[in-house]
Amino acid sequence: MSRCRTYRYLLQPTSRQLTGLERLCLGQCELYNAALEERRGAWAWERRSVSYVDQCRTLTETREVRPDLFDCGLTVCRGTLMRLEWAFAAFYRRCRSGETPGYPRFKAASRFDSVQWEDTKGWGLETEAKRLRLMGIGSVKLRMHRPLRGTPKAITVSRQGHRWWVSIRCAEVPAQPLPATGQSVGIDLGVCALVATSDGELVSEGRFAKKAKDRLAGVQRALATKHRGSMHRRRACEAVGRAHRKVTNKRKDLAHQLSRRLVNEHDLIVLEALKVPQMSRRPKPRPNAKGGFDRNGARAKAGLNRSIADAGWGMLRSMLVYKAEDAGRELIAVDPRHTSTRCAACGHTESENRVSQAVFQCRGCGHQDHADVNAARNILRAGRAQRASARAGSRN
Ligand SMILES: [Zn+2]
Repeated sequence: MSRCRTYRYLLQPTSRQLTGLERLCLGQCELYNAALEERRGAWAWERRSVSYVDQCRTLTETREVRPDLFDCGLTVCRGTLMRLEWAFAAFYRRCRSGETPGYPRFKAASRFDSVQWEDTKGWGLETEAKRLRLMGIGSVKLRMHRPLRGTPKAITVSRQGHRWWVSIRCAEVPAQPLPATGQSVGIDLGVCALVATSDGELVSEGRFAKKAKDRLAGVQRALATKHRGSMHRRRACEAVGRAHRKVTNKRKDLAHQLSRRLVNEHDLIVLEALKVPQMSRRPKPRPNAKGGFDRNGARAKAGLNRSIADAGWGMLRSMLVYKAEDAGRELIAVDPRHTSTRCAACGHTESENRVSQAVFQCRGCGHQDHADVNAARNILRAGRAQRASARAGSRN
């Protein structure tokens, strides 16, 4: 089976290469806006739609007028047109599904932070020398903190604050199966902890998160006092960006370590099939006869929303999925209904069983446990049952 994986490395450009990269981004931003203008104009004046292929064809003419945009090759220009194509595709898709999306926008140069090469021309990777050759830029040093596997097919170079990164998309990445351990685990997205496992383990975000969030709030307050367009404001903006990245990186690090450990130690991993976007939706306002509003649980849900977003559950989930696939582990998603109110010892299901957010006490048999751990055990049981019935089904 052919798998695709993306590897992201830090670029260490020289000051000259840095100037080149910045100029490249600036030029591609211009191209993006010009291509968007072409599409808008063609539709507004002639009711004619312009496609990605049409725009690629006119690139050769553009080259005669603006040769400076092509210093880094044609591929990167096509990549920018492709990005516009994706923006339009997303716009049309959302239109068709009855949403009211915003029309693709012009981009400010300061926000245009990435360029992409969608095929293998115009760049080359020297894994041994740890360098990335970019046409028109030069051979840029890479910090390859981990080896790359598979065949590189496309790259994206992006800027984040003062740092530059390359994401290398590889195909045909070989699997790395792990030896069987005979263990299985159920995982519950905890209300109290970040995650609870059926082994009785509770993983929480730790104190770093609180600290990082306090810091973020502090720099955001500082930003609000700065005058627009001032140097102080720009610095404050950068500080906010740094604080945001710090929170994200910490969370990502935790998710990576946790998913790695869970996949290494278990053959079967059972998750709840939870739809995060639906759960995060804002509750509808409830107008009452007196012209005011009844309680709709928005305040309570805001807390829940925050903890869902905080947990980075989606991130952990996708990491579990691809790590399990690489390692040849089995991953099952089960319907989470009743898992928080059912007793893992006797099966008695009643909402009163959950005494508080943290405490579970069965009203049938008196079994007592941490509420999230109890849910994780139910999830594991449901996963085993689902697997057994699937196997029985395939045998018949
Ligand atoms: Zn019980």
